[in-house]
Amino acid sequence: MSGVGVQSEEQACEAFVAWLDRRVVAAGRGDGLTRLEVAPSGTFWLGRIACEDEVRKGAADERSERLDPCAIGIRLRPAEAPSWSMTVKVRARAWVKDPKDGPDPKRRWWRSDLVEEVVSVLVDAGGGSFGGKQLEDAFAAVGAPGLAAEVRVDVEEWHRETELVVQLVNTSPEKAPGLTDSHLYETQLEVSGLPTVPFQLEALPDSFRYDRDVPVYGINVGVEVLGPGMFRTSDSVDVQTYRPTYWNGAYDEPDLSFMTLASDPLPNLTALVDALAAYDDAHWTPAVLDARQAAEGWTVMMRAKADRSAADVFDELGRLRTGLELLRTRPDIRRSFQLMNNAIARSAQGRGYTTWRPFQVGFLLSAIRFLVEPDDEANYVDTVWFATGGGKTETYLGLLLTAAFFDRITGKTMGVTAWSRFPLRLLSLQQTQRFADALAGAELVRRDEGIGGSVFSLGFLVGRAGTPNKIVPKPENDEDVTPDSPGMPDKYRVLLHCPFCRDENLQMRFDRERWKLEHRCTSPTCPMKGQALPMYVVDQEVFRFLPTVVVGTLDKAASIGLQQAMRGLVGPPQKLCPVPWHGFTYAERSKTPNGCLVPNCQGGKVLKPLPMDLKRFGPSLRLQDELHLLRDSLGAVDSHYESLLDHLQHELCGTRAKIVASSATLTGYERQVDVLYQREGRVFPQPGPWAGESFWTTPTTKPLRRFVAVAPRGVTLEHVSDRTLDALQRCVRELKDDPAAVCAEAGVNPKHVDMLVSLYGTDVVYGTTLYDVEAAGRSLGSNNTVEGINVEQLTGQTDFDEVRAILERLEDPEDDFAERIHVVAASSMLSHGVDVNRLNTMVMLGLPLTTAEFIQTTARVGRKFPGLVYVLHKIGRERDAQTFRHFEQYVRQGDRFVDPIPITRRSRRVLDLTIAGVVGARTLMIREPASRQRLSTPAKLRDYARSSGMTPAAEAAAVATVLGLDGAEDSVHRAQIAEWVQAWFADLEDPTIKATFVSELGPRSPMMSLRDVEASAPIHD
Ligand SMILES: [Zn+2]
Ligand SMILES: [Zn+2]
Repeated sequence: MSGVGVQSEEQACEAFVAWLDRRVVAAGRGDGLTRLEVAPSGTFWLGRIACEDEVRKGAADERSERLDPCAIGIRLRPAEAPSWSMTVKVRARAWVKDPKDGPDPKRRWWRSDLVEEVVSVLVDAGGGSFGGKQLEDAFAAVGAPGLAAEVRVDVEEWHRETELVVQLVNTSPEKAPGLTDSHLYETQLEVSGLPTVPFQLEALPDSFRYDRDVPVYGINVGVEVLGPGMFRTSDSVDVQTYRPTYWNGAYDEPDLSFMTLASDPLPNLTALVDALAAYDDAHWTPAVLDARQAAEGWTVMMRAKADRSAADVFDELGRLRTGLELLRTRPDIRRSFQLMNNAIARSAQGRGYTTWRPFQVGFLLSAIRFLVEPDDEANYVDTVWFATGGGKTETYLGLLLTAAFFDRITGKTMGVTAWSRFPLRLLSLQQTQRFADALAGAELVRRDEGIGGSVFSLGFLVGRAGTPNKIVPKPENDEDVTPDSPGMPDKYRVLLHCPFCRDENLQMRFDRERWKLEHRCTSPTCPMKGQALPMYVVDQEVFRFLPTVVVGTLDKAASIGLQQAMRGLVGPPQKLCPVPWHGFTYAERSKTPNGCLVPNCQGGKVLKPLPMDLKRFGPSLRLQDELHLLRDSLGAVDSHYESLLDHLQHELCGTRAKIVASSATLTGYERQVDVLYQREGRVFPQPGPWAGESFWTTPTTKPLRRFVAVAPRGVTLEHVSDRTLDALQRCVRELKDDPAAVCAEAGVNPKHVDMLVSLYGTDVVYGTTLYDVEAAGRSLGSNNTVEGINVEQLTGQTDFDEVRAILERLEDPEDDFAERIHVVAASSMLSHGVDVNRLNTMVMLGLPLTTAEFIQTTARVGRKFPGLVYVLHKIGRERDAQTFRHFEQYVRQGDRFVDPIPITRRSRRVLDLTIAGVVGARTLMIREPASRQRLSTPAKLRDYARSSGMTPAAEAAAVATVLGLDGAEDSVHRAQIAEWVQAWFADLEDPTIKATFVSELGPRSPMMSLRDVEASAPIHD
């Protein structure tokens, strides 16, 4: 007990997680029970094996055999030639049903004593069966006559090396007198006494980073290595991962605290770069690689890959040195960096962190050159790669604030510095809040330092069903939002708390005079003193005020082809309205006669000129979160719109925005970036010399997540999910109701009980389809033994205010356990940006479609405390079965299992959707302002086209160039564009055309949302 007495929180969690897992496995296997009311074959999902006859008679394919297997086993490679001898220990039990007049008529099923037999095996190249009689007798002896089993050894010679398959097979008859259930339960197989050699994982290109040895493979089970040549089957495959530390211990860690870097950045940054240089020299020079090649038996291909990685590593070092030199020599850069640190320090106040992780600073140094060489640096997409999360959002917030301060210092006094996009539907409120917090910190610093220009502010620009596009005085259709619409204004609250003072009592208000939907903080001590927070959530307010940073969903880019006021996101607006709180103006329309977007503006025709160089309105940065999700048709569509954004900004400002992204995976990254952005990709940080270890990160002995792979046998996945959640909930309730007993059993100090109930009292059940998620939520309500499990759903369909309410309840749970959320049924919505430290247990219903999603999703649990993840395999599917066999490698080397991202910009179907947007945007953003007149109707545009000499051929050529489809191999695409543009011109020239708006010309209108292309449809060149 002395160990328990000094137990830390983390040790308590670790012990508790181990106990939870033991209990779940016991529930799956039936451990500890004596009697049962219902048939065990409909209840247990682990440890059981069906009888061979029954499995053979069934569908008899490999798939059904996996669903209810008749054997468990171990595949191994003998070290020596035949014959082979080994000792095989078999464990199993039976369940037997009493007659109706038995001792316990309500619970007629009883569990037998343990059968434990040691079978001696001596086998030659022909294989054989062993222990049949011995096992049959043993079952009879425990009261289950009729049950039979054998140890079967198959010798497989068709692989490169001989392989032995040692299995325990249930050879019982399907039916026999007195036999009530032909399954064996709680089975286990142990092999010892046979020298073996490991299997070698296939040599993938980056193999030099990995340990490729696999001692043995399990068949329908996991295998534990007990000692040399000693292997034991386990019902689930448990893989423990360890928390990384963000500094490699061999070097003195520089002080990278926000305050130190705010006051004097150079000494510690120099120390950081010097340490990196020393590390790279110690691990990546040719001599070091020579030695590893010899010691680890690398192939030529592996060495070539290591050489390429070494070159990338030294390039990265070079970029950090350049960044450091710029901080040293350029006072404006240094000052921006210092102010950014000051701002981050303020926004992090009271959150328990005061310092950067070294890789975050490393990224900032490596990327900062774009401020002084924007044209050159725009050729590269810099991507923050961090497979397990760990602070990527803060990393690019650092870059973004540095850019915002640099803009102000160098004369960009207003307008958008950065447009940050999240993939569709995945914009999380927590992420948005982090942006708001960082900008609030920056705003306070800006005021203190007397830096001019407009207030640092945040805009929220999301697709349908988020926040309104505009607020109108009188509704003209159902979608219109007016100040009096139901739910206004509270429904559109986006912030969780005040970014300036953290107070949660925010008030939503619609200011009719200013025509603004406002977040206001009610705290009397707030630095904003009750004024509206600098946060814009209505699209038109974003255009009117052009906030410093715009966060939004990717699909919004489509508006560029339809909505002329989107111009503020790629270049200058038109003018300023003389009414001070109306903001920027755009092209004149019938509803906005002077170009001001405020309904019924009384500002008159005389507008104020823009008080800044027009060329500086173009944003400095476009950010893309979760880059790996831009694939298939969504990736194809976005690639066209990215090109369009580049084209417009270049035409209007002569600049290109720097693109910075984050990605969970690296496989196929260069090609993806090339297709999406027509730029070269650079990743930070470069992977280290070994998997999971680099200069920036190295594993500790602190548990991170315990992954448990489960291959359900004989029952449905839904049953297993319900039972697993039921067991997890039962455990936490026992801990709460009988802490003394549970603490003793689990080895936990009772002082940690409240903490454990909080940290492990809410389980996540994760489904890859909405159907799975909804089914899981429903069946749990009706199919559990524990009373009162509160289930909430978190999917793309969940309303905004509901998501916010759920997040609040998760962050700050009810005092009474019975009122808390006990289970969150979630879809991929959860896997992006939901960071709740109280989520530490997860049940995953089948493997997600991509390894990236697996990595991202499981990273949602165990963020701060040890996590526990049950991965229930849909074992009938080939992919799940494959992964179950390699589960340990899948978890530890996940990156290698990531498939290259399928993406192309040369999809003709997608081109058919995007041409209209390109033509539309060129008209709205470039021609109309240049013409100094309204081109909003076909008649006006027709006149302009004639007078300016626009031709179909020239426009088609321009569109092809914008889309990067002007190469020799793109003639088919060019013909398609030419045909489309011809049709558009024909409509334009047709005086009888019924179109009211320019967007109605041509074969189809511009896309309303990038979401209009189905994300799942396959796309081909
Ligand atoms: Zn406040
Ligand atoms: Zn106005």
